[in-house]
Formats: sequence, structure tokens, C-alpha cells
Amino acid sequence: MKIGYKSFELELKYPFTIARFSRTSTPIMLVEISHEGLTGYGEASMVPYMGESIETATNFLAAVDLGWLKYPFNFEEVMAYLDKKSPGDPNIKAAIDIALHDLAGKLNNIPCYRMFGSDPSKMPETAYTLGIDSPDMIIRKLQDAGDCHIIKVKLGRDNDKELINTIRSVTNKPLFIDANQGWTDRQQGLDMACWLGEQGALLIEQPMPKEDMDSNAWITERSPVPIIADEAVQRFADVDHVKGAYHGINMKLMKSAGMAEGFRMIQRAKELNMKVLIGCMSETSCGTLAGAALAPLCDWADLDGPFLTTNNPFRDPDFRDGKWVLSDEAGLGLVAG
Ligand code: MG
Repeated sequence: MKIGYKSFELELKYPFTIARFSRTSTPIMLVEISHEGLTGYGEASMVPYMGESIETATNFLAAVDLGWLKYPFNFEEVMAYLDKKSPGDPNIKAAIDIALHDLAGKLNNIPCYRMFGSDPSKMPETAYTLGIDSPDMIIRKLQDAGDCHIIKVKLGRDNDKELINTIRSVTNKPLFIDANQGWTDRQQGLDMACWLGEQGALLIEQPMPKEDMDSNAWITERSPVPIIADEAVQRFADVDHVKGAYHGINMKLMKSAGMAEGFRMIQRAKELNMKVLIGCMSETSCGTLAGAALAPLCDWADLDGPFLTTNNPFRDPDFRDGKWVLSDEAGLGLVAG
């Protein structure tokens, strides 16, 4: 089994600002794994705050040898092997896992979503994300949201209400709110949650710093809007860790180290009666289709990578009535751009 890879910068349509960071592009490592004349594709989107880079990904890949891996693939065995290489590096591990799923789908001639029992007719609508911006830019970006019926808003600064009022001056679309740990006082956080509920918020991600489990749990107990753990949850073990402190989790393939573990996280959250939002980083169609394959198993979706980037090397997946459309193609259904 042969691994190839190449890196590039995925350019963002607009500079992207959240509570603690701002950026204009994201380093991507595209991974190709070939077997019996077929090739699977995977992607690592390395947003700087997760700590990986082209250099760390290259070093990791140089140490990986999948020569021992026999077909059909045991994805959990592969992850155990990768986790022995290093405890971290979930972005590049996700790229390898996604490529193996794409390849396994092609070798077995089935779409990836079917490997998880995921029903394309249950696809949730995808939100369109607005970074923190001036009122003029917010209004301009809202025009790009077009076919998306849900707007995701990044909050966590001192002008949160002003930003929501700006959005409400032009659209009544329901909102996903992401505070990105930007709120620091639990009572203020709860007051905002109540106010945002009146403004049509469907959920609120990570109101307070992930380390402050007590305050997040305090808000969760009282909030009329579901409170979702994002930064507080990365991999499988974290789901049980945040049980009771949040209403649900934001599962992202770049945090979960790929599709196999992401699927287990969704199942575990459901067992614990927690909701699941499937999210993404700045991703090409590769990461987006991998997320879309699991999205029908989740309550909400935020898979807007292709809308927010300008040099996606693949064709944008089909998008209809606010939802990604899964194809019958084997594997992820990825098409060259
Ligand atoms: Mg978030």
C-alpha cells in the first residue's frame, strides 16, 4: 500500500476572524493511498491553533509505513498503529483515515456513507459561517450565504449583540452561535444564551473556556438553547469526559483523527443522550464529503468549507436546498476540479 502526499495553502474568500484568532489561508496536506490500481484521497486541514503544520505532517507521514496493512481494512487497528507513533497529530491522522475509507469504498464498490449505515435522505441542512467582522462586511457576506438556510455566527467579543442586530436587520434565518470560549462570566453567558434564544439561536458552541467545566455546566443547566462542546472535545474519550456539562458535542474529523473514530464518537454521544453537531475546519471537497458521509447520523451540520475558500482543487459537491447531496459513487464521491 503506497502513500503519497502534497501540501498547499487553501485560500479563504475573506480573512476569517474568531474570538482569539484571524487568518487568510490554511495549510492543507492531501494524502493519496493506492492499492490494486485504485487510489483513496484524504485531507489534513491544519488550522494553526491545533498546533500541526506542513512540517509536522511531513515528519509524521515519513514515519508511517502501511506495508503490514491487509485488505479489507481494520480502521481501528490502523488508528492504534498511528497513535503509537504519537499521541497528538489528529489532523494528519484524519487524512490517512479518510484516504483509507475512500480507498476501501472504491475497493468494495460502495459509497463511504453506506459503510456507516448513514441514510442520505436524513442529511441535515448545513450552516454558513460568518467570522467576526464589521457590519458592512457582515451584510455583504450574508448575500453569499444564498442557499444556506442557517447562519453560523462567531461571537465572543464585546460587540456580540451589535453583530446579531446587524444580521437581524437583513435576515430572519435561524442561527448557530459559536462563542469560541470567548465569554468569561457565567451569568453574562447565561444572559446572552437567553437573549440569543429570543433571536432564533438553535445552539451555542463553547460559551466559556473549555477548562472551566463548572461554568459551562452551570450555563447548560439553565440555558433555553442547547449548549455544545467544541474545543472541550477532540477524540473519543472526551465524549464521556464532557457528559453532563454540555447538551451535545461538535464532532470534527480533524479533531477525531478521522471517520472511524468520528463515527464512534457520534454513537457514544447518542448513547449518552447528547446531541451531535458535525463541524469542519477550512476544508476542500475531500474533508467536506467525508463529513457529509457521517452528517445524516448527526442532529446538525456545519460543513461549509467549499463556500468559504477560493482554490478548492476538487469539484464542489452537489448542494441542494441547503444540504449536501451524497452520490452513489464508490468511496467519498470526490471529483477532480
Ligand atoms: Mg466551534
